[in-house]
Amino acid sequence: MLFSRDNQEDSKYLEPIFGSDSEARDLPKYKLPENSVDPSLAYQMIKDELEDEGNARQNLATFCQTYMEPEATKLMAETLDKNAIDKSEYPRTTEIENRCVNIIAHLWHASKEEQFIGTSTVGSSEACMLAGLSMKFAWRERASKLGLDLQKRKPNLVISSSYQVCWEKFATYWDVELRTVSLDKDHLSLNLNKVLDYVDEYTIGIVGIMGITYTGQYDNIERLNDLVEKYNKKTPYKVYIHVDAASGGFYTPFIEPEIKWDFKLKNVVSINASGHKYGLVYPGIGWVLWRDKQYVPDNLIFNVSYLGGSMPTMAINFSRSASQIIGQYYNFVRLGFKGYHDIHLRTHKVAQYLTEEISNMKDFYMVNPGNHLPILCYSLKQDKDRIWSLYDLSDRLRMRGWQVPTYPMPNDLDHLIVQRIVCRADFGMNNAIEFIEDMKIAIDELNNSKLISNRKEKHDNYGFIH
Ligand SMILES: *Cc1c(COP(=O)(O)O)cnc(C)c1O
Repeated sequence: MLFSRDNQEDSKYLEPIFGSDSEARDLPKYKLPENSVDPSLAYQMIKDELEDEGNARQNLATFCQTYMEPEATKLMAETLDKNAIDKSEYPRTTEIENRCVNIIAHLWHASKEEQFIGTSTVGSSEACMLAGLSMKFAWRERASKLGLDLQKRKPNLVISSSYQVCWEKFATYWDVELRTVSLDKDHLSLNLNKVLDYVDEYTIGIVGIMGITYTGQYDNIERLNDLVEKYNKKTPYKVYIHVDAASGGFYTPFIEPEIKWDFKLKNVVSINASGHKYGLVYPGIGWVLWRDKQYVPDNLIFNVSYLGGSMPTMAINFSRSASQIIGQYYNFVRLGFKGYHDIHLRTHKVAQYLTEEISNMKDFYMVNPGNHLPILCYSLKQDKDRIWSLYDLSDRLRMRGWQVPTYPMPNDLDHLIVQRIVCRADFGMNNAIEFIEDMKIAIDELNNSKLISNRKEKHDNYGFIH
């Protein structure tokens, strides 16, 4: 022992993390540990615990943003303490949220004649809950004025069967019947020949999807709007459209502004989008906007105090950090329209490159070539000599760090197994070229492999479809 008693106190500063006592123990799993540890140790141990997780940049399954600039993360880290709901303590933050709503309303062509309203949320799921609740309450007001027996049947919501799971949650939590319009091989998005067959006087609304989670395709909102327009002319029981633009909301306006899907269409009354998808913010931010406040019944709005007065809010959550809202505003300020356009166009080109390469491989055919959102989806061609499945390919790619999900399409089309790649801003052309090389090697290995899992086994829950 070289240290005297007096300088033993100091010795812990010299102690290497991986030589310390605290490091030599397992992390607490079931109860609080008796004693504290140094912050640097706690940091290192938890960081290590997370080390064997997939690399987010190689995760081609997620729609969520996996990269932000250092200046953005600095700003967000410095504002983690701000509570988004506390409007009177943080009036500048509140103002920033309102500016974001204005900017998004402009992007989605809210009309000057109407009074749009909107709010940030934790993500599109919360946004869809709020939009769904507004549809339900607004329908109830309209229908009861018309004398409909509201107890006779459950209200229903019409959507294609390729909905994201948040709509099933909405229907379950708020006791609404989810009426799903099936997909078939000729209709991989909302079937417009059938959708109105599902609508009746108990329909609270129709949801169109701009960016179907399964394939990345768009519902044709413009034609849906025309159908709804005709339908509403014939009945006092009006229906309106909500657009779930979780991915498309921050993509389409920059890349395909000619597509009509937003508030330009008269019957689109509300839209949601995930700021953490193509809005390019880290997970934890969504938005929902209504074209006019008449579509949000008053009893869904709660007032919180704000600068000595009160301010209307709509949210399921109460407290949460405002740093995500600030991150969204950073992107708006920093990138501007051109920045978003350039980033998304580059991502689009990466998707086109992958589509071309994968189409040229003899094993696959494209289910969605990623012409709109940079999301491509493909399946295996029939070949009785092939001994591997898409699930095997996912496994093989995983060995090189790539996460590429394989899953069946929704009901009625669930015999179709697909693989999907979501291209994001941080998946550059260099990554894509490397990915294609790895994919070719993986296929080669599978073709020459003798160790194949049982192909007949069902893998319903394999992979990710978020
Ligand atoms: C991702 C997604 C959601 C859910 O969004 P979160 O922001 O993850 O809550 C809802 N609908 C669609 C179409 C999506 O792609």
